[in-house]
Amino acid sequence: MSADREFCVVCGRTGRVLTDGLCADCAAQRTRLITPPGLGVVTMCPTCGARKTGSRWDREGASRLLTSEDLTPLLYIHPEVGVRAVRWEETQRSGLLYHFHGTARLRFRGSERDHEVELTVKVEHRTCPACSRKSGRYYTAVLQLRGPENARRGKATVLRARLERQWEELMTESRADWRQAISWREALPEGWDYYAVDTLAARSIARLAKQRLGATVKESATLVGRKDGADVYRVTFCVRLPSVP
Ligand SMILES: [Zn+2]
Ligand SMILES: [Zn+2]
Repeated sequence: MSADREFCVVCGRTGRVLTDGLCADCAAQRTRLITPPGLGVVTMCPTCGARKTGSRWDREGASRLLTSEDLTPLLYIHPEVGVRAVRWEETQRSGLLYHFHGTARLRFRGSERDHEVELTVKVEHRTCPACSRKSGRYYTAVLQLRGPENARRGKATVLRARLERQWEELMTESRADWRQAISWREALPEGWDYYAVDTLAARSIARLAKQRLGATVKESATLVGRKDGADVYRVTFCVRLPSVP
């Protein structure tokens, strides 16, 4: 039998690619191409916007608004379907419950089609480990930002303003994960103390200050306790920035 004489058992059209007697259009109508979950859940850190996927937290600094990055992965996709894109529109919101209407552009058995989907999502707020460490004032290293050692002591506010400008300059060249490792800072008469939750990141920033700003760096460690049979140290980097003309 030649292909043009075969016809779809549902719509009767000929000249189409058939699978199990059905053309792609008729098969699409009889298949759950994408299925929304009964209730989608997005776990988000209210402080930094990070999302929890499985046991992992990522996308720190992401928008608190739900985007397709949050919504599309919640859909169950039929194995024969390729999702080109989904356009999401928020239709209703009550508290932390959101309703979305999605228009999905799909590829199924050689042709593309649009598919509408309704999705309800609950946002669960949970503080991520990085933020809970920060709020607990946990730190492993301190970067002491100071002026030159023998410089005449001027006004503390003037010195701090200058050091802050140089710090900001340094931050624009730092890697994002180094910047994220800085939890908080404290103002002192002699400069700033920046508290870091990651010693390697703090060391990298100190090294960058040396290379880019000609800083001198002194590193020292203080024993703060024992954990799992090992000594725990806190590392201090004293970073002295030369005066700027
Ligand atoms: Zn058909
Ligand atoms: Zn967080």
